[in-house]
Amino acid sequence: MQAIIQMPFKALRLTVLFTSLIIAGIQAQDIRLSRIEPPFWWTGMNDPGLQLLVYGDNIGLTTPRITSQEVTVSSFTRVRNDNYLFIELSINGKAEPVTLRIDFLYKDSVLFSRPYELEQRRPGSADRRGFSSSDVIYLLMPDRFANGDPGNDSVAGMAEQRDRSNPDGRHGGDLQGVTDHLNYLADLGITALWMNPFLENNNPKYSYHGYAITDFYRTDPRLGTNEMFVSLVEACHRKGIKVIMDQILNHASIQHPFMQDPPDESWVHQHPEFTRSNFRASTIMDPYTSQYDRDRMLNGWFDHHMPDLNQKDPLLLRYLIQNSIWWIEYANLDGIRLDTQPYPDGDATAAWSSALFMEYPFFNVVGEAWMQQESMTAYFQKDTPNPDGYNSGIPTVTDFPLYYALNRSFNEKEGWDEGLARIYLLRAQDYLYGDPDKKLLFCDNHDLNRFYSGIGEDMNAYRMGLTYIMTSPGIPMIYYGTEILTTGFESQGHGFIRTDFPGGWQEDAVNCFIVAGRTESQNEAFDFLQKLLSWRKTNPAIHSGKMIHFVPEDGIYVFFRESEDATVMVIFNNNDSQKMVTTERFAECMNGCTSALDPITGERINDVGTIRVSAKSATILELQ
Ligand code: CA
Repeated sequence: MQAIIQMPFKALRLTVLFTSLIIAGIQAQDIRLSRIEPPFWWTGMNDPGLQLLVYGDNIGLTTPRITSQEVTVSSFTRVRNDNYLFIELSINGKAEPVTLRIDFLYKDSVLFSRPYELEQRRPGSADRRGFSSSDVIYLLMPDRFANGDPGNDSVAGMAEQRDRSNPDGRHGGDLQGVTDHLNYLADLGITALWMNPFLENNNPKYSYHGYAITDFYRTDPRLGTNEMFVSLVEACHRKGIKVIMDQILNHASIQHPFMQDPPDESWVHQHPEFTRSNFRASTIMDPYTSQYDRDRMLNGWFDHHMPDLNQKDPLLLRYLIQNSIWWIEYANLDGIRLDTQPYPDGDATAAWSSALFMEYPFFNVVGEAWMQQESMTAYFQKDTPNPDGYNSGIPTVTDFPLYYALNRSFNEKEGWDEGLARIYLLRAQDYLYGDPDKKLLFCDNHDLNRFYSGIGEDMNAYRMGLTYIMTSPGIPMIYYGTEILTTGFESQGHGFIRTDFPGGWQEDAVNCFIVAGRTESQNEAFDFLQKLLSWRKTNPAIHSGKMIHFVPEDGIYVFFRESEDATVMVIFNNNDSQKMVTTERFAECMNGCTSALDPITGERINDVGTIRVSAKSATILELQ
């Protein structure tokens, strides 16, 4: 989800302007070809079919032809707008990489021809492993992290230029800036990188966040080029960092050429006047929902400048599926973060994931399921046994309920369902999920209060929250700047929770990428996270160990992670005072261990019968 921008009401109803020209009246020079998407493809894919979207003046009046033994035109589709032609190709499974020639015929003769490349797939491409619970993800907003190339801050012809003084403007960060700081990220210990969308957002305002795409196949020139993104992925891989791409099925920018000149009215949900989604994803599984509410949820627009795509249109859905596969194959991705998972048509999302996993069986996708309740979040995860039989096929979902709990539990008094019991009770509901080990755990993100602000700038709560997401089952994610105690409240405006990383710009007075540039407390936070991540990286009990937890008592919550040859004990003390924890009631998990090592402090405990824990703390112990 992204910035909700309040603009003066103006009905932005899309109307397809059909060229009512009669074929006979069109001259050959009135027919042009502007682009073909995908721009190229590969041989050796599991799906032998390929849909080409061909765009250009009156191109729909032509007939496509390919003369090849191994690639045939199985069908083509003309739509209501003559500026489009959809060509369905069938690629023989044994086809070698080739440059095809597509002939466009008009009045029975070839008007023009265009080359089309079928490339060789990367070796082992289908066997790529997606991100998993052994990873720690780092989320950053490319416009706000580091400016590696001040020369691209403003680009002629783009609707919005650099204005670093505007919290909602473009600040100049880019892909080169990310590439330049991979050593910093590797040093921190993260193993996967998720960037907010980097595709072209040629919009007059609020274009920095990337969620209103104007070209699904092009990196925004103010962030870099497609080739630079591929280089960034390669550089990440050399450092053992996976790359997760943010993709959006639900909407595009109203400035997108396909929205300005749509193939058909059916590509976008039409309303008599501007109709915003009610953002009530509960309508999807609510047994009492009205059709009105559900339609409003699914078919309302995300915002004035984000038309709601109708994924029920088979040509559009195919376009979106192929776009995702194209980026995985082209850029060698390790995962996709799917924006606003509940908002597109549910069957379309399932078809999208099914197509992806047919090509890449070991891949991973995390869906943004922004719900307050575990039950409603679980609905959107793959293999959750939903009463209505729905299966999204999306392996990982965001755990927003946990986010809300982590921002409250450490600052409230212990109660039956408050304090640490809030977290305990959330975890107890993991039975609802298709696979609770694949949930994405986080303390904040680009749409939420900065964690450090949300918890009242309390260093103890900070350590407790981050320890929780790094040690309990799931895939932890940290938001850029969390490691340096960045502050900001969502109520101030999204620009204030997406501030520039200090030191990312040459002109910055402070450089938090280096030890000397950070304050004492920032270094304390950074060092703490670095130790935690370094320890987590090689710990199978944390990656995939069984979890057993105990009902919180007296403000003490304890859980264990157990693998074949390791047991990790994690103790949370939510009291304002130091406590002595007697471990008798945990005997079933202690496995007769007598001593323990705290991997963060390096402290050794020689008698685990009674363990001293400090006030408001999280303690990790490797039992020995
Ligand atoms: Ca720049």
